Amino acid sequence: AEKELLIWKDRKALTKDQFPVSMGANIGGLEDTKRVRKYGADEIGLFRTEILFMSYQHWPTEDEQFTAYQRILQEMEGRPVIFRVLDIGGDKPLPYFSIEEQNPFLGYRGIRVLFDQKEKFRSQLRALYRASRFGPVKIMFPMIHSIEEWQEIQSICEEVRKETGVESVPLGLMVETPAAALLIDFFVEYVDFVSIGTNDLTQYTLAVDRQNDRVKELYDPFHPAVLRLIQYVVRAAKAKDRWVGVCGELAGDERMLPFWIGLGVNELSVNPSRILWLKKRISELTAEQAKLLVDRLQTARTRDEVIRVLQEHEHLLS
Ligand code: PEP
Ligand code: MG
Repeated sequence: AEKELLIWKDRKALTKDQFPVSMGANIGGLEDTKRVRKYGADEIGLFRTEILFMSYQHWPTEDEQFTAYQRILQEMEGRPVIFRVLDIGGDKPLPYFSIEEQNPFLGYRGIRVLFDQKEKFRSQLRALYRASRFGPVKIMFPMIHSIEEWQEIQSICEEVRKETGVESVPLGLMVETPAAALLIDFFVEYVDFVSIGTNDLTQYTLAVDRQNDRVKELYDPFHPAVLRLIQYVVRAAKAKDRWVGVCGELAGDERMLPFWIGLGVNELSVNPSRILWLKKRISELTAEQAKLLVDRLQTARTRDEVIRVLQEHEHLLS
C-alpha cells in the first residue's frame, strides 16, 4: 500500500476545491531528515531539539549545535525548518542535567528552564541564528503562558541577532497552555507565527497528566473544551493573518482533517510516515464542506457527540 501512496510524494496536499495545506514533519534526530524527504514533507514543522540533545553525553556546545543545525538545513535543501528550542523537564530528562520535581508538568519545564539557564539559552539561539545562513530557519518556544515571557524572548533574540550579525528569523509561539490560548489575540500582535501543541494543550486544559496511566482514560483531545480552545486560537490568529500550524498528535489524526481544513489551518506537522496518507485524504475533502463541519462541531457537548459529528461528516462524503 505504501507503494501506491508514493505518487503523493512530490504532490502538494490540496483539497478538491484547491485549498492548500502544508505538510510538516515532526522529527528530532540528525538521521531523521532522510525520512522527511522520503515521505515528501514540505518542511520540518517541529524539530524537537531535546531529542538531538539526548544524543550527547554532555550539554552540546554552541559549535556542536551549530554543526548539527547546519547539517539539517543543508539536507533539507532549502525547505524551511522550525526548530523548537530545548523543551526539557516534564517527561523529557537529559542524562547530564537532572531535574527532580513533585509535579514535573507544572514545574521547571520548557521555557522556564531556559530563562533560568540564560547562557545555555543564548548559546542555543546563537547556534540557530548562525545556522540560518544555510537555510530558512524559524524558531519556536514551548510552554509560554504570558506576554511578559514573549517580550523577554524578543529582547534576547534581538540581542543574539545583533551579536551574530544575521537577518532576523521568524519567531513562533507554541500554544500549549490555556493561558496562551486565551490571550491569543494579544500574542498575535507580537509573534510571527503560531503552532498549536495539542499534546500539552490537552493535558493542561483538562488537568490530566499525559503520562499518568491511572488517568489515561481522561486524557482526551476530542474533549469539546479542547476543540473549542483550538478553534478560538485559529480564528484569532487567522483574523490577524498569522500563519497557524498544528504540531501535536491530533494533527495527524485522520478524523480531524476536516476540522483543520474547515478552520483554515496552514500546516499539519506529523510523524513523517503519516504524510503520504494524509495528503491523499486531504485531496478527497472540500474546504467548503469542512467549514460546515466546524460549525456543527460547535454544538457537540460531549466527546461522543464530537466523534459522532466527525463520523457523520465522513459518511456524507463517501
Ligand atoms: C505538544 O505538546 O503537542 C508538542 C508538539 O510538544 P511535545 O509533544 O514535544 O511536548
Ligand atoms: Mg509540548
